[in-house]
Amino acid sequence: MQKESNISGFTRVTDKAPIHLSHHGARAKCLQRLIRLSMPVPETVAIDFSTVADFAVGRGPDLAALLDQFEPQSLISVRPSSESTEWGGPGAMLNIGMNDIAHATIAKQRGAKAADALYARFISAFAIQVSRLDPEPFAYPNEPDTKTLKALLEAYELEADDPFPQDPARQLADILKSMARAWESTTARLLRQAKGAPPDAGLGLVVQQMALGVGEGECGSGVIQFVSGTTGRPQITGRYKSQSQGREALNRDEGTLYLTRDARGPALEDELPEVFQQLKVQGQNARRALREEMQLEFAIDRQRLFVLDALPVQRNSRAGVRIAVDLAKSGVISKADAMMRVDPASLPELLHPQVNPGLARDVLFKGIAASPGAATGRIVFSSGAAQASAARGEACILVRRETAPEDVRGMHAAKGVVTERGGVTSHAAVIARGLGVPCVVGASGIQLHQKKKQFQTNDGRLMEEGDLITLDGSSGEVLAGAAELLEPALDDAFAELMRWADNERDIGVRANADTLDEARNAALFGAEGIGLCRTEHMFFDEDRLTVMREMIFAETGEDRHAALDRLLPMQRNDFRRLFEIMKGHSVCIRLFDPPLHEFLPHSKEGILELASALDLPVPDVSRRVEALAEFNPMLGMRGVRLGITVPEIYEMQAHAIFEATIDASAKGAPVVPEIMIPLVSAKREVELVKTRIDAVAAAVRIERGIDFEYSLGVMVETPRAALRAEEIAAHADFLSFGTNDLTQMTYGLSRDDASRFMGAYVQQGVYREDPFHLLDLDGVGELLKIGADRGRRGRAGIVLSICGEHGGDPESISFCRDAGFDYVSCSPFRVPVAKLAAAQLKLACPD
Ligand code: PEP
Ligand code: MG
Repeated sequence: MQKESNISGFTRVTDKAPIHLSHHGARAKCLQRLIRLSMPVPETVAIDFSTVADFAVGRGPDLAALLDQFEPQSLISVRPSSESTEWGGPGAMLNIGMNDIAHATIAKQRGAKAADALYARFISAFAIQVSRLDPEPFAYPNEPDTKTLKALLEAYELEADDPFPQDPARQLADILKSMARAWESTTARLLRQAKGAPPDAGLGLVVQQMALGVGEGECGSGVIQFVSGTTGRPQITGRYKSQSQGREALNRDEGTLYLTRDARGPALEDELPEVFQQLKVQGQNARRALREEMQLEFAIDRQRLFVLDALPVQRNSRAGVRIAVDLAKSGVISKADAMMRVDPASLPELLHPQVNPGLARDVLFKGIAASPGAATGRIVFSSGAAQASAARGEACILVRRETAPEDVRGMHAAKGVVTERGGVTSHAAVIARGLGVPCVVGASGIQLHQKKKQFQTNDGRLMEEGDLITLDGSSGEVLAGAAELLEPALDDAFAELMRWADNERDIGVRANADTLDEARNAALFGAEGIGLCRTEHMFFDEDRLTVMREMIFAETGEDRHAALDRLLPMQRNDFRRLFEIMKGHSVCIRLFDPPLHEFLPHSKEGILELASALDLPVPDVSRRVEALAEFNPMLGMRGVRLGITVPEIYEMQAHAIFEATIDASAKGAPVVPEIMIPLVSAKREVELVKTRIDAVAAAVRIERGIDFEYSLGVMVETPRAALRAEEIAAHADFLSFGTNDLTQMTYGLSRDDASRFMGAYVQQGVYREDPFHLLDLDGVGELLKIGADRGRRGRAGIVLSICGEHGGDPESISFCRDAGFDYVSCSPFRVPVAKLAAAQLKLACPD
């Protein structure tokens, strides 16, 4: 037998052979590591990427030389080996070399049954996978025997117009070519690119002598792993089956053995205790040497154990975290490695319930995944119905065309929210993320009949109020019925990973939190403070909404003051409790931002209700609603423009903030509130508001006889504010970039309507991605840089941050870190994502 170590693209895998991940792929490299651990790996040869690429175009070296590497007349297998095991590849081919002669020899050595089984398996796989014949006549027979074997051979000859190839070199040549071509197919390319493979990713192959797993004596195959892929905790799982090959044991049909002792049936631990012990030792060795939790594929051939392959254990996000942390805690990898191994984007799955990924899904429709997590409930079509449903203790999913501020209460009451329109920064998406409610937006595949309380899906299914659905806000899918959900996993492993990330990162992470519940979540997920409290969301509770509306309808300054005087204690209470929850951490409160008409009803019934609540004639109410309507409200009377024209609102809010500061500081950690002015575009706006707020502070100090500090900052969310940041910064202690509005205004793109054409724009490469989703580094990013530089010029050491939805995205965090920002602020559920991403950035690029 010729045993050269490297013949024209074929390399025998030995402990010292030149096997490289970038030339031979992960499987070949892994097998070499197993060999270095003295594991019983059958003879293996690796074929490098360029040789495999040659096979695809019908070239390639002499296969007789390859076959010479193995025992004469032995059977071999071929498996794919790309650079990452995640990228997939063509299915394995077993029993290559099986022909009439091998059949006769094996029948003599191992019995006719084994020979028939091996030959039948090979013909069946070759016909379907390599010759690509109609699969039906080649189904693997239940009990292969001489008759079924003959039928398979005849079927092959009939369908292929050629007898079944008998020459092992020809069989191998056809297999290698077919695998190489399968790798080049467009579908395979798209699938692997979706998993991060570069366009020119290569395929290597490993050719291995078969440990047959069938025949007399104990023969079989199995799969074993030592941790659960669902929890990541130590647990031996897998199966073994006598007279089987490959991963057949995992089919779990009759005759499969459990691995560990099990009340449900016989186990390998009892039947073959020595093999079981050997596997346990091999598993520990593999974990230590490969620095990973591995699944071993093994075969037993006449009582002898062979390890055929090892793959990283398939895992969900929560198991991924525990495995990484446990490997680091047991000294197998470093903490830095553990942090680098967890994808930050996978963390929200741990914070929310999740649809069990292992089960089949009945997908009704798909929209944009806008807020992660999963929930099951009965469909409701109005916020009122959602509240009624919650009052009855019934879980519901709110389905709306889009949501408006008056739906916030309904969203609060619902377990999940679906909107037909909208994108990732639409009202529904932003609010749902803040509330931690799973949400799917832009579900344009449904026809919604809100009045009839029903919607129809693309495949014609009619769903009505009360029907049960499950919403998966992580994938954007909405499923029929109640899917099985996995509970959140805020466990010790997660907490440990967050501690390590906190010690590593060099940029701050705060949360956007508007309500007390959100603030509690912010604290729970370890936010260093609140970077944005959108105060308007505090006015949507039933009692406040009415007072707010009274304020809006006030005819005289006196009436307006009276309404504001009633709102003041409510706000003071809100802020005091917010400060208490955040225990001395910074809290940045943004003054009132939205246009006033958002607080007014738009439907006929709503107007009637309001007229009776305010004791006003209906026409008066309608007139006022009409008078406040704007053609372009997002560019109209909102933010600081309201603050300047109706100054009493900001004064009331400042008053409430300062009084709450004194009250909270008296009981707990000292509070230094941060007050932020929205939608600024001119320095004079800041001067005017600052003068008034300073005056309120002075008045409260005198009233209460207590001193306190506060800082006043500006939200940079108009392009002009970024450009004029130098003069604006002269009046501001901090600048916080609101990238939602900044993106809207930089592109001239409506946050609420862009989803209509966003898909086409991204598909045709006009935009790299939805800029509301991924920060536009070129355009909006340039404004951020200009704003930051000019802001620093206006005031040295000014605190810089970002508080738009982009704040939790790793790419934006990298940008902000490079630009020297002090912190990012994002929805509470993205705080862990941001922390881990920030730690990874520091680890990858320390300065
Ligand atoms: C922003 O515009 O980026 C922002 C954070 O404010 P809002 O989303 O409330 O407009
Ligand atoms: Mg804004």
